[in-house]
Amino acid sequence: MRRLAAFCSMLVLCLAAPALSASALAASALSASALAASGKPRPDALLSALWTPRELAGSEADRVIGAVGEPDPGVPALAPGVTLPERPAAVPRAMQGAIRRVELPAAASGKEVGKGRKAIALTFDLCERANNVAGYENRVINLLRERNLRATFFAGGKWMRSHPEKAMQLMADARFEMGNHAWTHGNLALMTREEIASQMRLAEIQYANLRAELLRRAEAKGLGPLAAQRAGVLSVMRLPYGRSSELALDALAASGYVVIQWDVDGEGDEELHTPEELAARALRLLKPGSIMLMHANAVPQKTFAILRILLPELKKRGYETVTVSELLRRGRPQTVREGYFTTPGDNLQYDAIFPGKGTLKPDPARPFATEPVPPAQ
Ligand SMILES: [Zn+2]
Repeated sequence: MRRLAAFCSMLVLCLAAPALSASALAASALSASALAASGKPRPDALLSALWTPRELAGSEADRVIGAVGEPDPGVPALAPGVTLPERPAAVPRAMQGAIRRVELPAAASGKEVGKGRKAIALTFDLCERANNVAGYENRVINLLRERNLRATFFAGGKWMRSHPEKAMQLMADARFEMGNHAWTHGNLALMTREEIASQMRLAEIQYANLRAELLRRAEAKGLGPLAAQRAGVLSVMRLPYGRSSELALDALAASGYVVIQWDVDGEGDEELHTPEELAARALRLLKPGSIMLMHANAVPQKTFAILRILLPELKKRGYETVTVSELLRRGRPQTVREGYFTTPGDNLQYDAIFPGKGTLKPDPARPFATEPVPPAQ
């Protein structure tokens, strides 16, 4: 516990990066190696400049999960010189509520054969509660990068603190979009307006500190302008446990958060099915405009195996993967006023399973698979 607190305060110090000045950004030019043949920056230009292929690929060690003993009460402070960007304006009425999928225009939904593209959003949650470390499924991210696929990651604030290099790698990858998944996976349906605001804001602070560190490193390599293009504001979020209340939906909309759910739960009941069965189920349920829920922490066991089957099949069927924000720009969101997994009310049990307003392990149905892990990775 003490070791964890010490590690966290060290991390905050390590991340103390001065804000970049506009003139410094303008002065640094993109190197030729960062550009594709088209003249546009390569999606992995920042990645390859800041990390070695080996660091990016990761290893089995990234997938270790476990308890950290007592809940970690430490919260992040903005590093010196780092400020939180202004929140966007309130979400327009048509986008309020929990978005389950997007209705695309007919040409893009595949109803007119050969016209338009069939777009879906692959989304990955990076959940981590106050008393566990949830790991990073390096094989999933490597697969997305190999296939050059776009995706959205909803990152828990505490997950970003426990996995800072991985969080920065995801931020730096131009294929990917980042969203907020609350600080310690708080169940927003059980929280007051102040508690909801705190869950979101602490994750924003952690994101801002890491983004400042990313900008500092990029500037040192002459890639400041490229890094500065990476989003400074988290504008999409995912409800932990998919749980919401009218209060939570109103508070999130007022603070400029678009709430993203899913119409396809990729890993649901994974203990009961083979990856082949889970991939086949996803293929049955996916349609143009779908949003698919998965995880890129290392808690679910079958995500990588599912994707190895699913991704080639999606390509064969003419699907294009886009970020959630891109999908929203292409059509009309379909919303509900109460979040759920596959049928309304099917997530109410999480209110009781996870104590501390949802922020604590254990989940009796999913005990830790590994021994406790040391806090410093
Ligand atoms: Zn989650």
